[in-house]
Amino acid sequence: MTQKNSIAIIGGGLAGLATANALASFGMKADVYETAPALGEIGAGVNTSPQANKALQAIGLGEKLAAVADSSAGTHTCNMQTGEFLEFADRNKAAARYGAPYYTFHRADLMDAIASGLDPATIHLGHRLTGIEERGDRVALTFANGANIEADIVIGADGVRSVIRPALYGDDNPTYTGQMVWRALLKGSDIPSDLLDPAGHIEWVGPGCHLNAYYLRGHDVVNIVTQEDTAKWVAEGWSTPGDPDEMRASFPNPEPRLKKLLSVVTECSKWGLFTRPLNDNWGRGRIQLIGDAAHAMLPNAGQGACQAFEDSYIVARWLAAEPDPVKAFENFRRVRIKRVHAVQRLSIARARLKHMRDPVAQKAMIAAQQAGGAGSSNWVWAFDPVADWDKEPEVPTIEAEI
Ligand SMILES: Cc1cc2nc3c(=O)[nH]c(=O)nc-3n(C[C@H](O)[C@H](O)[C@H](O)COP(=O)(O)OP(=O)(O)OC[C@H]3O[C@@H](n4cnc5c(N)ncnc54)[C@H](O)[C@@H]3O)c2cc1C
Repeated sequence: MTQKNSIAIIGGGLAGLATANALASFGMKADVYETAPALGEIGAGVNTSPQANKALQAIGLGEKLAAVADSSAGTHTCNMQTGEFLEFADRNKAAARYGAPYYTFHRADLMDAIASGLDPATIHLGHRLTGIEERGDRVALTFANGANIEADIVIGADGVRSVIRPALYGDDNPTYTGQMVWRALLKGSDIPSDLLDPAGHIEWVGPGCHLNAYYLRGHDVVNIVTQEDTAKWVAEGWSTPGDPDEMRASFPNPEPRLKKLLSVVTECSKWGLFTRPLNDNWGRGRIQLIGDAAHAMLPNAGQGACQAFEDSYIVARWLAAEPDPVKAFENFRRVRIKRVHAVQRLSIARARLKHMRDPVAQKAMIAAQQAGGAGSSNWVWAFDPVADWDKEPEVPTIEAEI
């Protein structure tokens, strides 16, 4: 295929790197410009659901991902204070039903696997975008290191604090959601073997908060990631240090297994969750936003990166199919916005469900969700981005707004 456009991708996170791979799989070369001096060394877990893995497999990353992924049998959800079992989300069944695996990764391994498919000469580290301007059929880009380049088209994958968004839409800062996350990575050998039984992935839900704990890299590492409603302001970032005692105090009256798990934490970090009200400001003309830059969401449906992977495949597919990139981007937005808004709403609704203060009502709602009712992820995972890249997907109505 003849390359029609020079393509600049801003941001070398999961969205940007996956998109560079996707474009390459359709015969297009792109250059990636990333602020950081090295690609993300983030110590945390990330889960990818079947439909996102279909997109990644279709761009040739299947074997690389399988080599570094963990495949847990599923997630057991329990009440945080009583330990009562509430739900088992069976990942093997989901994988069989939707025709692709459900994976858990150490983020650094996922990043490495995605980056390893790319020509290193096309990844420009230490390039922080400071200015972007549309000039007729070109886009001029300015970087903090003094570099200036022009590209035919730009894909903005520069995350929730995108520089490209305000350049297009004016003041558009993400706002603090009043929710914060604690994160900790523990040595698997420090955790008694029965603590995460039977599947190695437990989610404890409780009043105003929840906590997930699961193995990474076989049983070498245990990832803890939590979320709570809070009146405290917390900055955003993967590396703001936290106080383990303050973390423990966030989960009052924990059941014995959770108490034991929390007692092992000696180091943790904290993160404030930021997002924006749902909007259609996803780009215009020769500039297209993807991933968190377009649609940052709460992490409760485990879909931020997954939606970025769907974006990656579908934006590349449109650019391969449509000679005019402006039309390709318009079509991308036409098929993506409705679906991603529904996923964003699902994430908000999930946060409310996990943090309900009435355990009886919560148990009933979790059972309804598991039966495929409101709040189920079935419709998210059932989507096939490869077969249906050009269709506006059907989505359920979910009443939830930031
Ligand atoms: C606690 C937590 C748990 C999560 N768990 C999951 C999960 O299990 N599954 C899931 O699917 N999602 C999950 N997510 C969401 C997921 O992490 C994000 O949606 C995803 O990382 C977004 O990728 P991105 O590439 O769009 O943005 P980012 O990962 O933020 O990458 C943006 C990149 O752009 C670079 N950049 C920024 N500004 C500039 C600039 N001016 N110039 C050049 N480069 C720039 C940054 O350095 C960065 O490398 C979770 C999120 C959180 C907070």
